[in-house]
Amino acid sequence: MSYFRAAVDAMTGYIPGEQPKPGTKIIKLNTNENPYPPSPHAVEVLRTLDSEWLRRYPDPYAKDFCQAVSEALGVPSDWILVGNGSDELLNVIIRACAEGSDRSVVYPMPTYVLYRTLAAIQPAQVQEIRYPEDFQLPIKKLVAAKGAVTFVASPNSPSGHLIPLEDLRSLAEQIPGILVIDEAYVDFADYSALPLVFDLENLVILRTLSKGYSLAGLRMGFAIANPKLLSGLFKVKDSYNIDAIATAVGTAAMKDQAYKNECANQVKISRTKLTTDLKNIGFEVLNSQGNFVLATPQNNSAEYLYQELKQRGILVRYFKQPGLEDKLRITVGTEAQNQTLLEALISLIR
Ligand SMILES: *Cc1c(COP(=O)(O)O)cnc(C)c1O
Repeated sequence: MSYFRAAVDAMTGYIPGEQPKPGTKIIKLNTNENPYPPSPHAVEVLRTLDSEWLRRYPDPYAKDFCQAVSEALGVPSDWILVGNGSDELLNVIIRACAEGSDRSVVYPMPTYVLYRTLAAIQPAQVQEIRYPEDFQLPIKKLVAAKGAVTFVASPNSPSGHLIPLEDLRSLAEQIPGILVIDEAYVDFADYSALPLVFDLENLVILRTLSKGYSLAGLRMGFAIANPKLLSGLFKVKDSYNIDAIATAVGTAAMKDQAYKNECANQVKISRTKLTTDLKNIGFEVLNSQGNFVLATPQNNSAEYLYQELKQRGILVRYFKQPGLEDKLRITVGTEAQNQTLLEALISLIR
């Protein structure tokens, strides 16, 4: 007899991008971290940390943080649920809503692989609907799948495309379950689906501090939805899911919207330049609304380039998955990092 449930034995665990030890001399363009440091105000809070925060349990609802989000985004603070990274919230949503084949998890592919992993653990049946070549949202097929939970990442990873709001609205209106719009990369995009949340009672918007706010190590994300929907999710989360330090640091970062926007603007400028530069050396590159680009080399294998870049101390993401084996996902770094990457690629390509 196995020590594990059949669902756990049957699944493959999530394989995160490589995380070299801090201090390793490496150009890390593989997991879409922000190349700029977090807000100086957030760093200051960390430096002046009161040890009393550690002795006591943290606020289970991170109300200070919710207040800061409320002010920054103009949503009532009781429409916010804070999580230990948005990954925890994805997990909470699946645990609260999905189960077996009657309550399935549905999403367009390719997208964030963790949706599949979390559904497999539950276990809940997964229905993956392929995006067409032009990345139009396959609304009819997604609706026909009748998911208890439908995930759409917008901007999507690894394609970088943003979904039109009319499409998201139309999808939410037709599905029986909830629609989760994963906006991990929204800080680099032209628009957000946030206004829809006030019209659609089955909509959840997911945000994170990992990308736009340069705080991937802090593990903080949040969901925005109407309080009735959130009340079900609150029951499922760990009672003290966000620690006191994360709450304090995250609150300071959230209040510093100007700094976040400044960094995001620089990333957007670099994204445009990187896209052009890669096209000029013969890559096909999709226009991206995230802090990464999906690039297809013309006369070289993507896997070969990935390996050779790694040898040279540059990490990019290579997915050995149908439809992605000929592509590299490259995080937008600083101008200097992007330049080093480009020079390495020029020396490698035929
Ligand atoms: C990075 C990412 C997340 C994870 O965010 P965390 O808050 O760090 O857990 C969620 N969704 C997508 C699509 C991502 O790329």
